[in-house]
Amino acid sequence: MTQPLWGIDLGGTKIEGAIVPSLDNPQPILRTRIDTEGHKGYEHIIGQIDKLVQTMKQQSGLQPARLGLGTPGVLDPILQTMKNCNSTALNGQPLKKDLEEKLGIPCVLANDANCFALAETHWGVVKQQAPDAKVVFGIIMGTGVGGGIVINGHVWNGKHGIAGEWGHNFLDESGGPCYCGRTGCVETVLSGPGLQRYYKSITGSMLSLKDILAHSLQGNDQAAVKTIDRLNHFFGKAVSVITNMLDPDVIVVGGGVGNIDSIYTAGVESLHKFIFNNRVDVQILKPSLGDSAGVFGAAALVA
Ligand SMILES: [Zn+2]
Repeated sequence: MTQPLWGIDLGGTKIEGAIVPSLDNPQPILRTRIDTEGHKGYEHIIGQIDKLVQTMKQQSGLQPARLGLGTPGVLDPILQTMKNCNSTALNGQPLKKDLEEKLGIPCVLANDANCFALAETHWGVVKQQAPDAKVVFGIIMGTGVGGGIVINGHVWNGKHGIAGEWGHNFLDESGGPCYCGRTGCVETVLSGPGLQRYYKSITGSMLSLKDILAHSLQGNDQAAVKTIDRLNHFFGKAVSVITNMLDPDVIVVGGGVGNIDSIYTAGVESLHKFIFNNRVDVQILKPSLGDSAGVFGAAALVA
């Protein structure tokens, strides 16, 4: 008998937990959540995860053998401490070691983009539309831009634990300074805030991404049209780096910007211009799991 899969998705505001029967059965046995309360510090976050796991044990009557944890950053494979977390309380902390001590079970950590790619591979759109895919690249284009690589059903972490961290590749100077200390990262151009900044640079006014998109579809706001055209152009240019380097079978695009339909048409036409090939065969798909991908992917880490 296979052990049910226990996953926790550690987010900035919520910590979500799920117990999933197996990779073949995505119907969760249990799903629950708790506030992160990250402002109370690192020790408190560890305490909240422990509290959630204890609740899951009580409610399910089950005991986890291992736990998968999706995190906002990555565990450095050499130092065994967290890095690149936007929830900065975690950076520099030995999260895996501390959790294993607290919970008394082995924990497997991966960043949220890796969990997203893994969940969509096993239970989401890849399973439905490209079940034979061997290499999947998962993109999250939202407030930030991240990526994760899944090869033959497993996350590929890489030497530094940063494999797939495509959001901080250089894309274009016009993106401006990035929080990471560099300039013109993919994230500064393709993230929601990046698009809003660009629109503001032309018009002087800050609009929501939803409004920019609506204006561009109506066609009477030239700045909005220009913002979305620029998105499509740079989406293709940025994705060409992924295809030239990794040549995945499928790319799944999540996050708020991933909902913009034109990246799947005009964005792919732009990719055609930049890819080192005379055709584009890679399937570029919208995800199907929505907000559940994080916690499901965390569970899939321990399969
Ligand atoms: Zn950056």
